[in-house]
Amino acid sequence: MSLNPAFVLATDLDGTFLGGSERQRTEFYEYIERNRDRLLLVFVTGRHLDRIDRLYEEEPGVPRPDYIIGDVGTTIICGKTHEPISQVQDWVSSLWNNANDRIKEMLADEPGIELQPVNPARRVSYYYQPEKLQSSTVQKIVDAGFDCILSADKFLDVMPKGVSKGPTLLRFIEALNLDAENVIPAGDTLNDYSLFQTGLKSIAVGNSEPKLVDKIKTMPNVYHSSQPGAAGIWEGLKYYGKH
Ligand SMILES: [Mg+2]
Repeated sequence: MSLNPAFVLATDLDGTFLGGSERQRTEFYEYIERNRDRLLLVFVTGRHLDRIDRLYEEEPGVPRPDYIIGDVGTTIICGKTHEPISQVQDWVSSLWNNANDRIKEMLADEPGIELQPVNPARRVSYYYQPEKLQSSTVQKIVDAGFDCILSADKFLDVMPKGVSKGPTLLRFIEALNLDAENVIPAGDTLNDYSLFQTGLKSIAVGNSEPKLVDKIKTMPNVYHSSQPGAAGIWEGLKYYGKH
């Protein structure tokens, strides 16, 4: 790993780094491994850490990241040691202020939501039923000073205010003193939109969800690949001359 990498790939996992055919993934992962000394690999994912670790068992060929921005931007750690990048992690913690129990209590009787069987430290994750969720529940979350992220008609996350993948990535770039010109985010769904709102040169892979494709139409900093997943990332890197 170089501290002055030629480029930094800050990629979402599901549908993006893990997307595309098996052959496309294998080829791209081999390319990554061949270039480890000149690139920095950062996973930027909604996944909780245990689900990232499980990935290495399920897909042995997946390159290990140098850094992980997990839990939708609320966990920021070194890929190898899992040590937090404290400059960024402390920022999230101070906004969150140990709110887990407070939020669970506040939302205990709300209809249409159910706690997920994960317990991340700086967000609270629910499943929700779109036909049962009340707008008053969302309002309650906002009024209490938190952000509410709904995704895939299934997941409801109560988040520290102002924290998501994009803002955390910007803090991470600052903490590691990276050249933002060389940092390239890649993603495929609405929860990657904040990555693109950073203004960084970005890649939306070919299988991106229509709601995201709609939003990036007017964003000159986002390249929309024709190919899906891993192949789409590679296509984007070539477009930016990073290969
Ligand atoms: Mg994804």
